[in-house]
Amino acid sequence: TDPALIRNFCIIAHIDHGKSTLADRMLQLTGIVENRQMRAQYLDRMDLERERGITIKSQAVRLPFAALDDTTYVLNLIDTPGHVDFTYEVSRSLAACEGAILLVDAAQGIEAQTLANLYLALEHDLTIIPVLNKIDLPAAMPDKYAAELAGIIGCDPSEVLRVSAKSGMGVEDLLNEIVTQVPPPVGDADAPARAMIFDSVYDTYRGVITYVRVVDGHLGTRQRIQMMSSGANHEMLEVGVISPEPTKVDGLSVGEVGYLITGVKDVRQSRVGDTVTSAHTGASQMLPGYQDPKPMVFSGLFPIDGSDYPVLRDALEKLQLNDAALAFEPENSGALGFGFRCGFLGLLHLEITRARLEREYGLDLISTAPNVIYRVFLEDATEYEVTNPSEFPEGKVAEVHEPIVKGTLLAPAEFVGPIMELCQARRGALQGMDYLSEDRVEMRYVLPLAEIVFDFFDQLKSRTKGFASLDYEPSGEQAADLVKVDILLQGEMVDAFSAIVHREKAYAYGVEMTKKLRELIPRQQFEVPVQAAIGSRVIARENIRAIRKDVLSKCYGGDISRKRKLLEKQKEGKRKMKTVGRVEVPQEAFISALSTD
Ligand code: GDP
Ligand code: MG
Repeated sequence: TDPALIRNFCIIAHIDHGKSTLADRMLQLTGIVENRQMRAQYLDRMDLERERGITIKSQAVRLPFAALDDTTYVLNLIDTPGHVDFTYEVSRSLAACEGAILLVDAAQGIEAQTLANLYLALEHDLTIIPVLNKIDLPAAMPDKYAAELAGIIGCDPSEVLRVSAKSGMGVEDLLNEIVTQVPPPVGDADAPARAMIFDSVYDTYRGVITYVRVVDGHLGTRQRIQMMSSGANHEMLEVGVISPEPTKVDGLSVGEVGYLITGVKDVRQSRVGDTVTSAHTGASQMLPGYQDPKPMVFSGLFPIDGSDYPVLRDALEKLQLNDAALAFEPENSGALGFGFRCGFLGLLHLEITRARLEREYGLDLISTAPNVIYRVFLEDATEYEVTNPSEFPEGKVAEVHEPIVKGTLLAPAEFVGPIMELCQARRGALQGMDYLSEDRVEMRYVLPLAEIVFDFFDQLKSRTKGFASLDYEPSGEQAADLVKVDILLQGEMVDAFSAIVHREKAYAYGVEMTKKLRELIPRQQFEVPVQAAIGSRVIARENIRAIRKDVLSKCYGGDISRKRKLLEKQKEGKRKMKTVGRVEVPQEAFISALSTD
């Protein structure tokens, strides 16, 4: 295709503002999906995406569009995930486009992710087309929000388009605006091939499918290609475009968006952000923007049935084929047995991974409380990276560093007080505050990541009746007064409950965990102290009182075989027990103590 006829664009929006529905209408309007084949959120192919109504993986689709100037253009729509955990993928998708539709719900207005995505799009120099969606809703306030939107991007309110992705109203006008406003791609057709990978998906039958946007040159079938970050060469088996199902083509040229299949079996060999070139006389300079996705949140995943350990390992390996950001390594816990320490981009990533493991692989799992990465400096100048609290180094601690984020919160002005209270309680530092309109406020905070991975989002929603939204990005680290709190049963540490917390919150954590365990652990033949301690200093203590339960006393002396049976039975019951020191704890107790509610 002549690059002058190509328009590459994406839709960016806060979650639920209607990206996927708008994509649906575009598929329909351009005729590539027949009406009778249409289903809602057509591009959300993963079961979980469909159920939760969210987009996890980006998708790219080629739409032939006959514009008002009687010319047929090729529009490449790249649908992006909207959640903060997947910002990395959004950013890659943006780099593949020249234009972005900034979609805002006309009944909700601008939200935190609207802004975050807008800033990303501006960083990539994209042409922004502001659009209000859901104007069919009785609650829509298009004039108000057009003014708000025009205010933040610096255009006239009349330039804000109005559509209903649901009914299709205004969508054709929008497509024509894309053709006129978004610049066509530019690239050097005669240069060595360079294409940017913006998505990479593992398919059981075909191996890894790599989605690319060609910047320079041409990528044809029957060509060997090279991944520039690693220098690895691969045979090209197929080149194609998605429209809306995969369709083979002879090759991809400047500005075109499509997929490559090379037969590799692991998305880590074909990483998002990497540059593809030809193995023969390839390019020497990578395209900008390659960055390894880094796990930010860690949690131990353990099979409830220990014999499922190999299944879990296998499942994690399979998921990793499709998820370069998922990290894991074996972990052995005294309380929970064999499992894996897993690293995630954020809590949603954790939750989705866990849901997929349980659903797609039939596993019953218990996960330990999520924590961030800490850097611990000891007085002897050694340094440790701690992703598991139970591996906190021994020795005199000089300083502990924790990751921090820059958070943007958006809410109606009446909630400023409750939000400030919450952020303060979470050790946040206010950086600035702006009124986007007379009743909508943007607040910027620096917060420890550890303080938002737990229940920050739920707290925020409940204190603002659901009206506040949050977005954040990593922003380095800071020294903080952090301590490791251990939980001990009769003097023995229970590794699964160790946590790294701020000194001021250590006591509350200790009291809460010891209380919980006292209630959950059945009484033993002897008294069991449950303690919380920082180092050797006990900060909280509960006691589980002793009982005397002698099974044999029920048998009046004589009947030996009966006694034997009872003893046998008791032994069996013990198998489902974990022992911590001399204390027997049903695995159930650990599981309930770890599940947050
Ligand atoms: P996404 O998270 O941005 O992909 O949002 P979706 O496309 O999944 O839409 C979120 C919800 O808004 C769904 O229930 C849609 O049916 C609904 N929705 C999307 N566009 C419109 C619209 O124009 N009008 C109305 N009334 N509802 C819409
Ligand atoms: Mg969606």
